[in-house]
Amino acid sequence: MNQNLQRRLIEAVSRSVIENAEDLTALDQAIGDGDHGLNMKRGFEAVLAQIDSLAETPLPDTLKAAGTLLVMKIGGASGPLYGTLFLTLGKTLPEQPTLAELTAAFGTAIDAVKARGKSDAGQKTMLDVLLPVQAELMKGGDGLEDRVRICAAKAAEATIPMKALRGRASFLGDRSIGHMDPGARSSSLMIVAVCNVLGG
Ligand code: ADP
Ligand code: MG
Repeated sequence: MNQNLQRRLIEAVSRSVIENAEDLTALDQAIGDGDHGLNMKRGFEAVLAQIDSLAETPLPDTLKAAGTLLVMKIGGASGPLYGTLFLTLGKTLPEQPTLAELTAAFGTAIDAVKARGKSDAGQKTMLDVLLPVQAELMKGGDGLEDRVRICAAKAAEATIPMKALRGRASFLGDRSIGHMDPGARSSSLMIVAVCNVLGG
């Protein structure tokens, strides 16, 4: 992982979240309290504000520092969950990860999110994007960036007919059906951004 690539990844992920903040807000207005866009924008603006130091530290330190910033700045339910995801990736990944190490670390980080959120697949949350993406990574093989990109977008779409069983949206019961989960959407934005940089 060189500094230039690390910088491009941080920028791409942050910009994608910031540029789509209104979309995330609209999704959270439909089935939550409407703060997901602003929460995420605040978190990733804080990340961008530290881009110089985040780009030059070793990958594990960068991920841990980003995770800490996200916990502090995002708030809500998603702040601690995304913070846990990034912090665990930082604790688990080596400085120059192979695909196998990346896949394994992503699995460990998802397990930490599940434990933190007392949540799992099929509950209409960010996990409904993170888990299918991890399964796609496990397959490896040709065109992985493209396949993961498609998988993330489809998985976010697939939360539309689900009924929310975790988080604020679960208070709506059946009325949560028919809307995309905001956290699933933000996860897919970040994953697509990573694939766009890695896949060119
Ligand atoms: P809040 O619900 O506190 O307003 P946000 O709006 O920032 O927080 O984030 C909402 C998103 O967080 C949801 O769309 C969902 O994807 C995710 N989420 C909420 N609770 C959980 C949980 N227990 N496990 C996993 N993800 C969750
Ligand atoms: Mg919200």
